[in-house]
Amino acid sequence: MAAEDQSAHLNVETDALSASSVKVAEGQKTVRQAKEKSAAKNKSTAGKASEKLARLGLRKDMDFILHLPMRYEDETEIVSMRDAALRGGSAVQIEGVVTESDIQYRPRRQLVVTIADDSGQVVLRFLNFYGSQTKQLAPGIRVRARGELRHGFFGAEIVHPTYKIVNEGAALPTALTPVYPSGEGVPQALLRKAIANAIGRNNWNDTLSAARRAALHLPDFESSIRFLHTPPPDADQHSLSEREHPAWQRMKFDELLAQQLSLKRAQVARRSKGASALPLVGELSNAFLLTLPFTLTAAQEKVLSEIRQDLRQAYPMQRLLQGDVGSGKTIVAALAAAQAIDNGFQAALMAPTEILAEQHFRKIAAWLEPLGVKTAWLTGSLKKKEKQAASELIASGAAQLVIGTHALIQDSVQFSKLGLVIVDEQHRFGVGQRLSLRNKAEAGKVPHQLMMSATPIPRTLAMTYYADLEVSVIDELPPGRTPIVTRVIDQNRRDEVIQRVHAAAQEGKQVYWVCPLIEESETLQLQTATDTHAMLSAALPELQIGLVHGRLKPAEKHAVMDAFLRNETQVLVATTVIEVGVDVPNASLMVIEHAERFGLSQLHQLRGRVGRGAAASICLLLYMGPLGGTARQRLATMRETNDGFEIARKDLELRGPGEFLGARQSGEAMLRFANLETDQWLVEKARDLAQELLQREPQTVAAHLERWMGNKEEFLKV
Ligand code: ADP
Ligand code: MG
Repeated sequence: MAAEDQSAHLNVETDALSASSVKVAEGQKTVRQAKEKSAAKNKSTAGKASEKLARLGLRKDMDFILHLPMRYEDETEIVSMRDAALRGGSAVQIEGVVTESDIQYRPRRQLVVTIADDSGQVVLRFLNFYGSQTKQLAPGIRVRARGELRHGFFGAEIVHPTYKIVNEGAALPTALTPVYPSGEGVPQALLRKAIANAIGRNNWNDTLSAARRAALHLPDFESSIRFLHTPPPDADQHSLSEREHPAWQRMKFDELLAQQLSLKRAQVARRSKGASALPLVGELSNAFLLTLPFTLTAAQEKVLSEIRQDLRQAYPMQRLLQGDVGSGKTIVAALAAAQAIDNGFQAALMAPTEILAEQHFRKIAAWLEPLGVKTAWLTGSLKKKEKQAASELIASGAAQLVIGTHALIQDSVQFSKLGLVIVDEQHRFGVGQRLSLRNKAEAGKVPHQLMMSATPIPRTLAMTYYADLEVSVIDELPPGRTPIVTRVIDQNRRDEVIQRVHAAAQEGKQVYWVCPLIEESETLQLQTATDTHAMLSAALPELQIGLVHGRLKPAEKHAVMDAFLRNETQVLVATTVIEVGVDVPNASLMVIEHAERFGLSQLHQLRGRVGRGAAASICLLLYMGPLGGTARQRLATMRETNDGFEIARKDLELRGPGEFLGARQSGEAMLRFANLETDQWLVEKARDLAQELLQREPQTVAAHLERWMGNKEEFLKV
């Protein structure tokens, strides 16, 4: 239905309301009736409309203001039919009088209306129409129509134009007509009206002074929103659609400024909380350093000293330790734990999977237990009795180092003196999960927190979403690694790949064979893994081939991983359960089937399971063609680079930050307007201004946050 019809409908409603007030003069009874009737009607229509709008997230004035058009239609101009015919192909608006109106039946039922002006005629063709339209578009009626003009068999025509019935000389709009993102049952006319009302209702004081706006080359707020909702006819449509127009820049800047302000406030709030200072007092840390199995890289030394510096503060550390897969984050975490233990506190390390938690446990326990550290191990799969025993060790303080999975954050787990929380692969956890571990310190204190991630966060993301985190980066790999060579191979050549697996095993190397991701069905994924295992066992009878997947019981998983670690199995067929953290240095060949189904960061994580020892490693990405554009780019990126930062940047470009962070983490904090790839300079300016405003202008901070965040700020406090 044409938008104009809807607005006509709305007008009728308002007219009915004003009509009722006219009746006031007509005696009490009628007045009351009319009032009640109109009030009821008013309430129900307004109620329905506001419910519909609320479903689009539109409640407060600011919600409406920020509901910006997707595109615009130019209805400010009428083109003569002759010129319209010459232009052809693009959207035009014409006006004329109906000369003929017919329902035709061939090739199918359709309404065909001819309208004419002084210069020529155009056919309006409706393949779906209401009976009322036949009457409405009767000969002699003046019609203003808009749509894409084509040259059909019977001359110039517009199929399914938007149109309205007008009187001769009816005024044209003076601004472009906005087309808003909408939902079911919410006509454009309703949105336009509600948004125009919201703009008119409010006094949009600017939160940036004229001097600041001039320095930033940004227009004022009110004219920006007016411009974006109703641009003048000569506005540059390209800069509008590309969101490059200064009015757009202003919206993006304000959004980023609000985000920076609230993140900074969250940081101040965190610093005002107390934590136990954990200075480097020595014994365990020193003994540990002396027994290290290798020398720390310069990058590891650097991040370690940053962490040590944080730990000695009496407010909680909140540091993200970023380092590409294989860069050696675990040892740094263990050294941080040693510092906490030296001070008489407990340290807890939480990992997202049992396999990873267990691997950490074994490795770190092997480092620290000989030095007298008491450890505990807690995962969901422990037997009830074992769980209870672990909980008791934790509660009494007998366990100085606790390693486990999500099980650590259960209410039943009470620490005696928790000083440091380490979260590995932090992006795998929701904000809430990280928080609940933090809440397990002594009353009134917050433990220091070290988060680790191999998924590098591009600078702009770190500056925005993670503005409340200090970031340490391990930017070099331990020595002696040879870069992984990646090949992209059509799955038709699977036989050759199997031969390579055989050859690698003959040379004493070990191999991962990763089964395709089947998101729709876990059962199917399991089936595929089992089938692949059977296929490889048949093809390579002289090799020992293991199989690990998510449905195995922890003890079985443990046994399979153990056999692979000890080189009793040469090939490990696996689902993505091996994606994070698994460390078997002798494995140097990785085959990933249906690589086109995986995301970039997932491929990078998987590939990171090889290239951990001295042997040159190879990663074979098998794909099934034909490849879509994005899949092709992902595989090309994998072939071209091993650099996690480069891959993360590409990932951000291909997927956008929402998916990058995972829905749970982005949530309400998501940016709607600014694009972290293209608007980096705005991010930096917003950050600088946020700093300045927080120091000097608390009222401006309050006003800006009130406008942009409303009550959403709570979310960012975590
Ligand atoms: P990630 O950062 O992916 O968690 P890990 O901590 O698992 O990496 O380390 C990868 C491998 O490198 C492990 O086998 C670890 O023992 C080894 N490693 C870590 N630091 C060094 C170093 N400085 N020199 C040599 N090997 C190291
Ligand atoms: Mg790791």
